[in-house]
Amino acid sequence: MAAPLMDRFYIGGEFVRPAAGATDAVVNPATEAVIGDAPVGGLAEIEQAIAAAREAFDRGPWPRMAPAERAAALERFHAELIARRAVFEQLLVIEAGCTTQLSSFMFDYPMKHLRFAIQMLGREHVQIFPPVIAPNMGGGLSVLTTVVEREPIGVVAAITAYNFPFSIAIFKIAAALAMGNTMVLKPSPFTPFVTLAIAQAAHAAGFPPGVLNIITGGAAEGAVLTSDPRVDMVSFTGSDGVGSAIMAQAAPTLKRTLLELGGKSAMIVRADADMAKAVPAGVMSFTMHCGQGCALNTRHIVHNSIRKAYVAALKAAVGVMSVGDPADPATAVGPLIRASARDRVERYVEEAKASGATLAFGGRRPPGLDVGYYFEPTVFDDVANTSALSQDEIFGPVAAVIGFDTDEEAVALANASPFGLSGAVFSRDVGRAYEMARQVRTGGIQVNCVPLDMSAFSSMGGVKRSGIGRELGLDGLYAYTSQKSITMEAG
Ligand code: NAD
Repeated sequence: MAAPLMDRFYIGGEFVRPAAGATDAVVNPATEAVIGDAPVGGLAEIEQAIAAAREAFDRGPWPRMAPAERAAALERFHAELIARRAVFEQLLVIEAGCTTQLSSFMFDYPMKHLRFAIQMLGREHVQIFPPVIAPNMGGGLSVLTTVVEREPIGVVAAITAYNFPFSIAIFKIAAALAMGNTMVLKPSPFTPFVTLAIAQAAHAAGFPPGVLNIITGGAAEGAVLTSDPRVDMVSFTGSDGVGSAIMAQAAPTLKRTLLELGGKSAMIVRADADMAKAVPAGVMSFTMHCGQGCALNTRHIVHNSIRKAYVAALKAAVGVMSVGDPADPATAVGPLIRASARDRVERYVEEAKASGATLAFGGRRPPGLDVGYYFEPTVFDDVANTSALSQDEIFGPVAAVIGFDTDEEAVALANASPFGLSGAVFSRDVGRAYEMARQVRTGGIQVNCVPLDMSAFSSMGGVKRSGIGRELGLDGLYAYTSQKSITMEAG
């Protein structure tokens, strides 16, 4: 498949072949065929990439440019990405196992946030406070004005997850670069080519050398990036376990860390819920991208008076979904990323069966799909919220249905989780649903909908083991800045 230059890192504005020549085979999860060999980052190239980003920040034009000039460069980047849309959508299918139904959303969604970052460069991000009269250390009084500016943080090491490889990379590039930082980006070893294709768009856009550097590799390369003293900030999207390792790696050099981690979100369905809304939302909440979404609501907390009917409706809806080749436009559910991911899902399913949960649908590899890492959408009823099925992020197409009797119980069940990323409440009593949504400890939550998209002004992130900090929206831009207060004697 490899487009030209996909076998090289992007460092200091040049495409660089790894000196050691090491590569890693990248597999299409639908066919198990190797689609190409990605370079694996040797220490020498990571050193070069960090040095290039440092130089570009300390002495290059990027952080010193007028915001309008940075906006123009990001606008060119936007155009170059759009020009490669077909390449990205194809890579999302063959590399990440994303269905063609989903690939255009996976492209458009981050582009909207890139556009938002460009637009926000047209705004002033400076606060000026009213004058105060204050005593001077040397005696006498001064009339003082304080101006608070936002400065870039410096060199950002960005490390991304495999499931939304284009979106997550663009979120981080857009915000960090718009705010004047420079970056070294490392994608998941499962999905390097999408990110290497972004390097081609960045090169064509003509960013100054070293502003955006892209290397590929795995945990070892990520560990170097997150511990090097020349890196000022780590922006990470991935699992909670790796997130906590990264925090430890970044601690000795006291880097700022932005952590967007996993979830086990709860969807509360009250007895008065509109089932025509709740059921399709429930289905999407564990089948979209084969359950490989951080914010998916994989715990369905359903009022006991309607639980059996809800489970029957889920079964009926899931039963007609087509599982298979993600390249086929008719396919609704594609594969898991690797055999190891499917093995993990299977272990949870077997454990749930043994623990007394009721398997209502699925629970096996789809018959007839012997090649590819497929697993049937699976529904368990009568699940204990304390079970591994309810507590752990499985990252596969498995829903756990848990019953409740009172609103207080529903909220308590939703909150009895190590995670706090997303969630939903379905009820015809919107006021009550809103009240309950407020009581669920998460970074975001929805009422009577589970939309794919949200306002570009809205930020995303988690509490508890789902993360630290916010991505997207204005707060997401400010996450890549530090504030500087300049106090002046009023003239
Ligand atoms: P992962 O944590 O296994 O890997 C993520 C990245 O970390 C990869 O690039 C990997 O090479 C790198 N890495 C691994 N060990 C490292 C180390 N010690 N130091 C530095 N880097 C290291 O995650 P994954 O399996 O690629 O992605 C799935 C996870 O990502 C899920 O938990 C999902 O919920 C989460 N996720 C979160 C969000 C969000 O916005 N909150 C979005 C997408 C995915």
